[in-house]
Amino acid sequence: MTLIDISPALSPSIAVFPGDSPLTREVLLDLRNDDNLTLSTLRSTVHIGSHLDAPSHYDAEGDTIDAIDLQRCIGPCDVMRIDVERGSVIEELPRDPREERLILATGTHPDPQHWGGDFAGIDPGIIEKLSAAGVRLLGVDTPSVDVASSKDLPAHDACRRTGILILEGLVLDGVADGIYELIALPLKLTGFDASPVRAVLRELE
Ligand SMILES: [Zn+2]
Repeated sequence: MTLIDISPALSPSIAVFPGDSPLTREVLLDLRNDDNLTLSTLRSTVHIGSHLDAPSHYDAEGDTIDAIDLQRCIGPCDVMRIDVERGSVIEELPRDPREERLILATGTHPDPQHWGGDFAGIDPGIIEKLSAAGVRLLGVDTPSVDVASSKDLPAHDACRRTGILILEGLVLDGVADGIYELIALPLKLTGFDASPVRAVLRELE
């Protein structure tokens, strides 16, 4: 059984959306300073690294992250590589999705430590089509399903209308097109609008 880790490393240097809270670690106790333990405090946006958006992030009536059905976060997943220009909006996919979980590898946010700001977004029409084809979770290797400059967030809104869950911030370098098992469980953060996940793909066969 081979696991492929598709989560970026989380450290204070990981890029977050401009204006969002970066990750910090406050060390309260440290064995290296002769304390009896090492103990630290994490502060961060919940939209850090690989993370699952809760519907409440883009829908005032939407579920918060603790209410997500975990079945949706584990199971067969189609990884689709697409050729797309940085900063553009994806308006067509090269083929139909093969599973209810679909991950798009765009290669437009290649370094999670660097805020490029020119990653690709997804046209809401594609999201409607994916929903009609049975997709219920959409993953991307970018910080958002919308382009960074978007204010009306049409792709998020299409996910709200269709009930598709959004998994963002994946690292898909070297992951081939194909069917895998996805495991990407959010923390049970009561009332929160997202949660970091440790996202992995398990190779089938
Ligand atoms: Zn998010």
